[in-house]
Amino acid sequence: MIFASNNGRKIPKEDKIFGISNRAKAMAAKEGKERVINATIGALLDDEGNLIVLSSIDEVFKTLGAREYAEYAPIGGTAGFKEAVKKDLFREFTTDRFVEAVATPGGTGAIKNTISNYSAYGDKVLVADWFWAPYNTIAQEQGRTLETFNFLKEEGNFDSMSFKEKTEELLEKQDTLVIILNTPSHNPTGYAITHGDWVNIIETLNNLPSNKKITLLVDAAYVDFADDDENDSRMFLPYLEKLDSHVLPIVAHSLSKAYTLYGMRCGAMICMAQTKEIAEEFKTVCEFSSRGSWSNCPKAPQVILEKIYADPVLLNKVKEERKNHRAMLINRGNIFTSAAEEVGLEMVPFHGGFFATIPCSNPDEISGELEKEGIFTVPLAKGVRVSLASLPESKCKEVVYAIKRVMENKR
Ligand code: PLP
Repeated sequence: MIFASNNGRKIPKEDKIFGISNRAKAMAAKEGKERVINATIGALLDDEGNLIVLSSIDEVFKTLGAREYAEYAPIGGTAGFKEAVKKDLFREFTTDRFVEAVATPGGTGAIKNTISNYSAYGDKVLVADWFWAPYNTIAQEQGRTLETFNFLKEEGNFDSMSFKEKTEELLEKQDTLVIILNTPSHNPTGYAITHGDWVNIIETLNNLPSNKKITLLVDAAYVDFADDDENDSRMFLPYLEKLDSHVLPIVAHSLSKAYTLYGMRCGAMICMAQTKEIAEEFKTVCEFSSRGSWSNCPKAPQVILEKIYADPVLLNKVKEERKNHRAMLINRGNIFTSAAEEVGLEMVPFHGGFFATIPCSNPDEISGELEKEGIFTVPLAKGVRVSLASLPESKCKEVVYAIKRVMENKR
C-alpha cells in the first residue's frame, strides 16, 4: 500500500477472474475470435457468444416512465417489489414464519448485510471449501475472515461430518456464527444440496448450543438455473422452517441471472424468522446497513419485477423464455459431463448450473497451459472452473478433451 490503508485485507492488484477474461478478450482482438474459448464468464451467453437478455424483460424495461427509474426507491425497497420478490423466491411454498424482505444490490448485497448484522467483528464466517471468491472479499471488508468445511466427501456426497465439526469448533470460540451455503447450482462445482444432506444440516444446526446465535444464509443466486422445474429447485425452503429459534434462516435472492438484470444490481435478502420481533429487527438492522453502504437500490429493476408479478401473461412469458435458456444450459452440462465420462476426466459432482469444476493438484499450471491453446478457464485452489454459461455447445467436448490432454501431459 502506498497511500491507502490496508486494514488487514489482502488486496490483489487485479480481480483474478476479470484479469483472465481481459486476457481472453485481448487474444480474441489480436488473433481472431475463433481462436478463443472464454469459459470464465459468469453470465449466460448464447452459442455465438452474445449476452442473453430476456426479451420480455427488455420490453418491460422500455415501458418504464421517468419516475419509475429516476426516483429514489425506499431504502428497504418499494412495497410492490418486496411483495413480488417474496413471491418470486417462494413460488408454491407457503410458511407461517415471519417473512421480511429487504432490497439489496444483487445477491452480493444480501451477503454483505448478513455478515455485518449477524456476525461480530473478528468472527469467522463458515463456507464450503469450494466457494465463490467474493465471500472472502466481503468478509475481509468487514473485519471478518472465512473458515471452510470440507464440502464433498470422496464419493461425492455432502460432508455432513466436516460441517458438524466446524460449526461446533467455531461456536466454542464465538457467540455468533454466519454460515453460507450456496445451492442449488453451486458456484464453482454445480453441486446441489440433496434432501438427505438437508436433513443432516438441519439436525446439526438444531443440536448446536441454543445460547448461541446462528444465521444460515442460503445463497440462491442460481436457483432458476438448476432443475427443469423451478419449484423443484426450491426444495430447500421447507427445511428452513425446521430450524430451531437459535438459528435464523435468510435467503440471498438475486435478479442478476434469473431476470438477466446483472448490471441493474437488484436482489433481496429474505428472512424466515420465528418471531415477529426478530423479523422486525431484521428489517431495521439491514436497512441501517444499506443506508450506510449503497443507500437505496436502483428503482427500475424493482418496478420491473413488480410489473411482472402484476401481469400473469407477462410472468408466463418470462418463465417460458427462461425455460428455453435453461434447457440450453442443461444441454451444455449434459454434453460436458458425458464427454468427461467418455474420456475418464474426473469432475467434482455436478448437478447443473453455470459452472463445472475439474479437480487437480496444479490448477494454475493446467489453466495456464489451456490458455496457450486459447481456452480460458479459472484456476481455483483445488481445481479448474469451466463456465458452461459462456461455453458454446459446439465447444463443450473440445474443452473436455483439451483438459484431459493437458492434465495427462502435466502429470
Ligand atoms: N453468489 C454466487 C455464488 C455468485 O456466483 C454470484 C454471482 O456471480 C452471487 C452470489 C451474486 O451475484 P449478484 O450480486 O450479481 O446478484
